This record gives sequence, C-alpha cells and structure tokens, in this order.
Amino acid sequence: MRRQMQPDLGRAGEQVQSGALELGLLQPFPFACRGCGDCCRGREDILLSGYDLWRIARRLNLPPQVVARGYCREYIGRESRLPVLRLAPAKRGGNCSFLVGGRCSIHDAEPLACALYPLGQEIDSEGQIRYYLQPVSCGRVQPGALLADHLKQYGIDAREEMDRRWALACMALADHAALWKKELEPVLFRRMQAKMAQGLYYEYDPREEFLPQLEENLCWIYAQAEKLQQMQKRRTIKKIEP
Ligand code: SF4
Ligand code: SF4
Repeated sequence: MRRQMQPDLGRAGEQVQSGALELGLLQPFPFACRGCGDCCRGREDILLSGYDLWRIARRLNLPPQVVARGYCREYIGRESRLPVLRLAPAKRGGNCSFLVGGRCSIHDAEPLACALYPLGQEIDSEGQIRYYLQPVSCGRVQPGALLADHLKQYGIDAREEMDRRWALACMALADHAALWKKELEPVLFRRMQAKMAQGLYYEYDPREEFLPQLEENLCWIYAQAEKLQQMQKRRTIKKIEP
C-alpha cells in the first residue's frame, strides 16, 4: 500500500480530496489566478513546513520563532504526534495577516499551500510527488496552459527537493514519535515534542541555506531522543529500586 503524506505531518499543502484527478506535467491545467484574494480570507488550514517558515523569516528578516509567534499557531498533529504550524488568521477580520490591500504582501515567499492553490500535492514514502486537480470556481481559463507551466510560474518545481525532504523527514519522525510516545512518560514525551518543534521549525538562520540546517537539526532531534530515552531508563530504575 502506498503511504501518503498526511496534511497534519507538518508540511504545507492542500489536503487532496478523494476523487481528485491526478495531473501529469504535460497535461492541460488551463487555470489562471485572478488575484481576488478570496483564498486568503477566513482560512485556518494553511499549514507551514519548516521551509515555508524559513522563507517567510528570510523575507521579513526576522528569526523563524519571532515570525511563528506573530503569525502562526503551533499544535500537535493528531495522527503524526508531530508539532505543526499553521498560519493564524488576523484577530480582526479573520483573514490572513499577510493579506494587505487585497494582495499577498509576502508573495515571493508565500507558503507552498498558497502557491499550489487550487492544486493538491501528495508525496509518498518513495518521495514521488503527484499533483491533483481539485474542483474550484475561481480564476479564469487560460487556454493552452499545462501543469508544468503553473508549477514553474509559482516556483513549485524549484522547491520540490526541499518539500520532498521535509515530507520524508516528517514521515520518519512520525514513525519514531509513535514509539517515543509508548516509551516515554507524558512529561518527557512533551519535552520531545518541544525538541521536534525547535528542530523542525525554529532553529534556523534565515541567512543560511535551509536544507543543510534541516539535516543538522534532524541529527540533533534524534540525539535528543536518545538523551530522553536514557533519562526515562534512569527514572524507571529509580522507581523500581527498593
Ligand atoms: S487562486 Fe482563486 S481565490 Fe485565490 S486569488 Fe486566485 S482567483 Fe482568487
Ligand atoms: S500568505 Fe499570502 S497567499 Fe497565503 S493566505 Fe496569506 S496572503 Fe494569501
């Protein structure tokens, strides 16, 4: 059975609706955005990957954690048990805080979910990326346009390497998180989740390339897990000692 990236695994992306039609790169995708901004209004489902947050942080020249505090909400994915960030709608009006004058004020650093819309994306455990056509009633028809044109226009093809690595890293972490949840006491597992949030989202220098930092952070996350497992062993021994 093919394993798919679930939307709560901490990556950005539209949830692929059942029955959505898979599109090949050279198949027609005659959609052009009208720039009405409706897909930025009243939404609470725009998930961010660490790469998305790093791009916004670089665009705003702020540390990722500062951007997250100001514009995002962190929660724990129900299935994955991983920390997940989503864009938080503005308190007043409920629209995306980056929507200014009907336009995206961070257009050149917009999250993958925004760049994809109205496409769905799926990344499987082999790293295969598929795109799906989802029903929408917005935009206008652009005759002759292909899926490949859209991916290029919105920079989606250029970031595939990052999104693939992020998805695979999150899938592997989700498998480990299931074991850590069984092994560790709740207080230590929560500490582990905080470490994962740090490594997946926050401990990045926006002036440095993303991917090497992600690889380094993943090593750090697994090293932290070992430390917590050792701590758990010591706690367990202490409890059973007479
Ligand atoms: S993708 Fe659709 S809803 Fe969003 S701005 Fe473009 S036309 Fe409007
Ligand atoms: S980040 Fe930009 S494109 Fe995405 S929802 Fe906000 S305003 Fe819209």
